Amino acid sequence: MDLGIKGRRAIVCASSKGLGRACAISLAGEGVHVTLTARGAEALAKTAAEIRQMYPSVTVTEVAGDITTPEGRAAALKACPEPDILINNAGGPPPGDFRNWTRDDWIKAIDANMLTPIELIKATVDGMMARKFGRIVNITSGAVKAPIDVLGLSNGARSGLTGFIAGIARKTIINNVTINGLLPGPFNTDRLRGVAKAEGEKRGVSAEVALAERAKLNPAGRFGEPDEFGEACAFLCSAKAGFITGQNILLDGGAYPGTF
Ligand code: NAP
Repeated sequence: MDLGIKGRRAIVCASSKGLGRACAISLAGEGVHVTLTARGAEALAKTAAEIRQMYPSVTVTEVAGDITTPEGRAAALKACPEPDILINNAGGPPPGDFRNWTRDDWIKAIDANMLTPIELIKATVDGMMARKFGRIVNITSGAVKAPIDVLGLSNGARSGLTGFIAGIARKTIINNVTINGLLPGPFNTDRLRGVAKAEGEKRGVSAEVALAERAKLNPAGRFGEPDEFGEACAFLCSAKAGFITGQNILLDGGAYPGTF
C-alpha cells in the first residue's frame, strides 16, 4: 500500500534506538524526510547513517539534545520548523514506590512524558492545520490502559497527556490533522532488556532466563519487535489514516485482558 506521505517531513523524537528509531525507519521507507533526536550523539549518528544507507532519497537530519528541555525542543524545531508529522517520544520515568517520590521526581516525569509532547504540539499544530495536513503520534505506554504499580510516575504523567489529547484531537481533524496515541506493551528494545536484566539480578537468574520467562507471559508468547511498532506508526501517519483521531491504540500482543 502506498501510504501517500512521500516527501513529507517528520520530527521523530528520541529516535536513535528502540521504538523511536523504528518509527523513523518506517517513515523514511515511505519517503518521508526525517529529523531524528536523541541525547547521545554517537548512537544518533549511527542510526542516521543506517537510514541514509537504506533510503538514500530521503533527507535525514540529526539533532543531538535532550528533547525534554526547552533548548532540545528549540533545536529540533530549528532543524525542521514545519513538520507534517510529529512523533512524540522520550525515555520513561524510573520504577519505584510512590512513598519515595519527591515533587522533583514528579515534575521530571511530567516534564518528559506530558509537557514535552504538549509543547511540541503547541509549536507545530497550527502550521499543520494551516497546511491542511498533520499527523501527530504520541508514544505512551500500555500502562495508560492497565497501570503497572511500580511505574506510577509513568502511569500518572502519560495519563495526563492522554486526557489532554482527548480534548484537542477533536478540534484539529477539521483541518486534516490527527493526534493519536500508540501504546506499546513489551517490545524488544534496550529498555525492556535493561528492565529484564535488573529483574533477573534481583531473583538470581540470568537476563536470558528473565527475558524468556517474561516473553512467555504474553499471549503472543514473545515480545513485539520494534519494526512492528514502526509500521503501525507509519500507517497512523499516512494519508489513508485521516479519519482516525483521538485514539489510543495498544500494540501489546493481546496482553490487555479487557473486552474493550
Ligand atoms: P530505548 O530502547 O531505551 O530507546 C530510547 C530512545 O530515546 C533512545 O534513542 C534514547 O537516546 C532516546 N531518549 C531517551 N530520553 C531522551 C531525551 N530526554 N531526549 C532525547 N532522546 C531521548 O526505549 P524504548 O523501548 O524505545 O522506549 C521508548 C518509550 O516507550 C519510552 O518512553 C518507554 O518508557 C516507552 N515504553 C516502552 C516499552 C517497551 O517495551 N520497549 C513499553 C512501554 C512503554 P539517548 O539515551 O541517547 O537520549
